[in-house]
Amino acid sequence: MVSIGFIGVGNMGGPKARNLLKAGHDVRAFDLSAQALKAAVESGAKAASSAADAAAGTDCVITMLPASQHVRGVYLDQGGILSVAKKGALLIYSSTIDIDSTRTVAAAAEKAGFAFLDAPVSGGVGGAEAGTLTFMCGGSEDGFARAKPILETMGKKIVLAGAAGAGQAAKVCNNMLLAISMIGTCEAFALGEKLGLEAQKLFDIMSTSSGQCWSLTTYCPVPGPVPTSPANRGYTGGFATALMLKDLKLAQAAAQSAGATTPLGAEAQQLYSLFAAKGHAGLDFSGIVKMLRGEL
Ligand code: NAD
Repeated sequence: MVSIGFIGVGNMGGPKARNLLKAGHDVRAFDLSAQALKAAVESGAKAASSAADAAAGTDCVITMLPASQHVRGVYLDQGGILSVAKKGALLIYSSTIDIDSTRTVAAAAEKAGFAFLDAPVSGGVGGAEAGTLTFMCGGSEDGFARAKPILETMGKKIVLAGAAGAGQAAKVCNNMLLAISMIGTCEAFALGEKLGLEAQKLFDIMSTSSGQCWSLTTYCPVPGPVPTSPANRGYTGGFATALMLKDLKLAQAAAQSAGATTPLGAEAQQLYSLFAAKGHAGLDFSGIVKMLRGEL
């Protein structure tokens, strides 16, 4: 049993904290949202009064916060995790943020004597609930060895991608590919409809042909063929367009600083910017099929 401070128990952090509790760990949770914190406490977590209160005295601190500014603030600000955590504690953050911020926080954490791991995830809310997430980690071999048994209670595939920032690098590559494949899948359905094909028939063919991909078989953007996909509940409760757009911007910033050529990633960012600007930032990213059909 490990004592864990868990900061940010929202859509992803909430179910992750529940799986830690189910595995017998002692979890002290904090969230700025009273509703999110209440749900964590109902699952068995102890309520902390602040991020510092959750982090102080625990063997491991995990954060699942929205974006770079939250991660930098919670770790680096006065009274932040790095100034209150127990000596030698293991620090893990799991958000998708920019690589430079990751390296800044990692360097400060290592200087202060902590083992620090960036450990972004893939698998969505369903994967967080089922404990089947993929964790892509950046950090030292030692930190990874300490973190692995804890991460295994929340995920199925745990990979050390390289040094600090490597987890984030892998995550932005993955999500850029995901956005491109989703737009391609939506275009194929929009074209199929115009050509008079039934969505189910087209799905049956593409899912067993060379067009097969996760966007088609798990997150199918039209209702029907995959009953659990967000398309069946009005494009809600999945991976918000606003978060996908954030990740596409991170991918483009990384491509620019590394000198990589990513024209389809750039186009995907433009299309998701347009979809968000039309007022759909809160919809699941598969909802872009409506824009490609000309409905929005
Ligand atoms: P979310 O908004 O549901 O949860 C974030 C939580 O952090 C919120 O409850 C918020 O109140 C809390 N928070 C913000 N600032 C805080 C602070 N200073 N102190 C304490 N709590 C604070 O977001 P999410 O969907 O859980 O996503 C979190 C991260 O995971 C993002 O970086 C996202 O890109 C990434 N991610 C999300 C998914 C997904 O499917 N939702 C999948 C993979 C990765």
